[in-house]
Amino acid sequence: MNIAAHFPLNATASPTPHEVRAEKLVNPGFGRVFTDHMAIAHYSDEKGWHDLAIAPRQPLTVDPACAVLHYAQEIFEGLKAYRGADGSITMFRPEANARRFRKSAERLAMPLLPEELFVESCRALVSAERDWIPTSEGGSLYLRPFMIASETFLGVKPSSDYIYMVIASSVGAYFKGGAPAVSIWASENYTRAAPGGTGAAKCGGNYAASLIAQAEAIKLGCDQVVFLDAVERRYIEELGGMNVFFVFDDGSLATPPLSDTILAGITRDSLITLARDRGITVREEKYALDQWRADAASGRLVEAFACGTAAVVTPIGQVKASSGDFTIGSGGPGQLTMSLRESLVAIQTSAAPDPHGWLDRIA
Ligand SMILES: *Cc1c(COP(=O)(O)O)cnc(C)c1O
Repeated sequence: MNIAAHFPLNATASPTPHEVRAEKLVNPGFGRVFTDHMAIAHYSDEKGWHDLAIAPRQPLTVDPACAVLHYAQEIFEGLKAYRGADGSITMFRPEANARRFRKSAERLAMPLLPEELFVESCRALVSAERDWIPTSEGGSLYLRPFMIASETFLGVKPSSDYIYMVIASSVGAYFKGGAPAVSIWASENYTRAAPGGTGAAKCGGNYAASLIAQAEAIKLGCDQVVFLDAVERRYIEELGGMNVFFVFDDGSLATPPLSDTILAGITRDSLITLARDRGITVREEKYALDQWRADAASGRLVEAFACGTAAVVTPIGQVKASSGDFTIGSGGPGQLTMSLRESLVAIQTSAAPDPHGWLDRIA
């Protein structure tokens, strides 16, 4: 089906002038520079999905009793569009985000957006905003699809109305000059997700609940927080917004198994695939904080890294915990970590072949 037919472009009357955009793209950082348009669609129980468009990006007007403001019925996604070395414009695995968005919607009792509409909304927006994709190395257009409950009602029930939107943000390399190793705080007081809860859904509420632990990490001089399981408070789960991997001295990899307390990262899935392509053994198994400390000390564990769309792969150099701090390897970026990172980035930027058909070509 024709994209324009689903998301017709209602172009802004006052686009950002060339020079202003060029200036913004010099050093965009992350999540501060926004493009001129957004994708939008409305849902109501009576009409289903309707009024789809690529429209000028503008503030929303909602009633103070708008459901999402009170009960946080909200889900989101994050994916990137890249400008390839060959001039192509692509998105990385958008249908995987579309599927995950439906899973999140199901958990939050929200309507399921058809996968084609999700992908088409992203394609149409990227197509309209292609000039906002930075040309600098490591630059991309970060897409943020999200859905909010928009009924004006204070009763506690699934909303009857929803707004789906996609906004786009020009972003630079997450870390300038590659990927320095970060330090992480293993929170033994706060948990992120409990069995039966919303940990496997990408919802804003999970992030709201993680902020105090993240703030604690910063206060203790760490960059990020890593959460332990909520039942035994022993097993490593994930960071606030990134999955985690461990590299062993026999060359194997391990990552915590997916469950209803771990978000199924698309970067995680892609790295498992790339590692297995290389013949590397990847185990999806539980790994305890105590074991991690012991293995780091004995040298059995040689590297660790976190992964997610925003920063792709981030080496972990130090772990701090009230039960004792430890260093991973030499404390710097690990070899396998950086080589997997390179492989994935090369595919994402069309610098290497795409054997798994992960790129969705827009132009
Ligand atoms: C989004 C997210 C990730 C990473 O998922 P990607 O698809 O790789 O970006 C990991 N953990 C949490 C909690 C997340 O919200």
